[in-house]
Amino acid sequence: MSIKQIITEVKERYGYQVTFVQAVEEFLLSVQPYIESNLNSVEDYSRLRRLIEPERIISFRIDWLDDSGSMQSNTGYRVQYNSAIGPYKGGLRLDPSVNEDVLKFLGFEQVFKNALTGLPLGGGKGGSDFDPKGKSDAEVRSFSRAFMLELQRHIGIDRDVPAGDMGVGAREIGYLYGAYKQITNSNEGALTGKDELFGGSCRRTEATGHGVVYFAEEMAKYHGFDLKGLTAVVSGSGNVAQYTARKLNELGVTVLTLSDRGGYIYKKSGFSNSDIEKVQKTKAEYRQLSEVKIPEADFRSGKPWEVPADAYFPCATQNEVSENDAEIMVKTAKMIVEGANMPLTDKAVATVQKSKVLYAQGKAANAGGVSVSGIEMAQNAGHYYWDCERIESELQRIMGHIHTQCVKYGKTDKGIDYVMGANVAGLQRVMSAMKKLGW
Ligand code: NDP
Repeated sequence: MSIKQIITEVKERYGYQVTFVQAVEEFLLSVQPYIESNLNSVEDYSRLRRLIEPERIISFRIDWLDDSGSMQSNTGYRVQYNSAIGPYKGGLRLDPSVNEDVLKFLGFEQVFKNALTGLPLGGGKGGSDFDPKGKSDAEVRSFSRAFMLELQRHIGIDRDVPAGDMGVGAREIGYLYGAYKQITNSNEGALTGKDELFGGSCRRTEATGHGVVYFAEEMAKYHGFDLKGLTAVVSGSGNVAQYTARKLNELGVTVLTLSDRGGYIYKKSGFSNSDIEKVQKTKAEYRQLSEVKIPEADFRSGKPWEVPADAYFPCATQNEVSENDAEIMVKTAKMIVEGANMPLTDKAVATVQKSKVLYAQGKAANAGGVSVSGIEMAQNAGHYYWDCERIESELQRIMGHIHTQCVKYGKTDKGIDYVMGANVAGLQRVMSAMKKLGW
């Protein structure tokens, strides 16, 4: 058995799930040197092959009532990927692009991300092709109840603890958890990212973006430079992008762009916190960036990668950076740090890896969100509330720990390969757990 054979097998079986196959292939190629020198037995290879397959995929119909009284239907999913280390943990995505392929790719990534944090968290992902944009509160409530009617059978504090992801903000988590509480007659914190009024953690909203910047700080420190004074291009304008931009601002980085599906806003002197607040307000109202009025900024169609910068933070969605985009980015970039999951196509990754640019994938850099979710679970289990300072410093510690793992497993003659480091560190923890559990 070889890595090449496993990749061929995955392609033959799941060739129609292109995003999933992309994620698996990228992962396996990056850990190939480690596997070839460390996995010797037939059982090891068998374990590796098996962990590519989710432990369970649940898919179900969701019928909900729209405001005109008509019944609408969507598909809901939960991919329970791997529970060797702890309960399945990973977000729910609500977006028309959601399907089994996308959720398998996200779940696969989540398994290794969660392992990297050092917390006792397995990996999973879920969601629906329902689009919350443009829906009234009543419609989102109706959808959430119908979704939870089925999902609640499969989740729980020791089994599977979902959180938010794209399209799932404070309103959606509130309604989903409200439905969960009523249906199960319990106060189990079976979802994270909840409002602090009913068991949520301080700083969960900010955690992913702040974590991305803490990770970038660790990278800079390790390589002997400072983030202060750099220019940065940030894509997206949702949860991750907003708090990445705010934290960068706080550290003295000039944030030049924010984007959405319609284009990007560019401000040469960099966004102030009050500019970013305007973006947050607009996005909370499900409106487009083109409608935001920011002094000295202009709205442009296209992608933000055409703007030269020292650092790039893709924080919108998968495959948002093409090979051409990457070729432009590496001309000026010192670092590319991913807030989104798999925002670079495989060809874009190859382009970046051929350059001297420091490059961290989401698996390592965006693990701050799930880390604070893990801390939220601990607070709920202890019926306790930690103060914000304690959580922020724990988040910083975890991002530092992830960086140390990446350095430990990613050292090469040419420097630190963060992709290999993160993947090997995550993989060896999951594989060791599976082995010791007799799986
Ligand atoms: P949000 O829904 O809050 O924001 C998503 C942003 O990406 C929006 O600005 C959206 O634009 C933009 N976007 C979505 N699809 C496209 C597209 N096809 N082209 C261009 N822009 C697009 O999501 P999050 O910020 O929560 O998540 C962003 C990424 O970070 C995802 O990859 C997610 O999996 C990942 N992530 C999120 C975590 C979290 O804690 N939230 C944790 C770890 C990873 P528009 O407003 O026009 O829809």
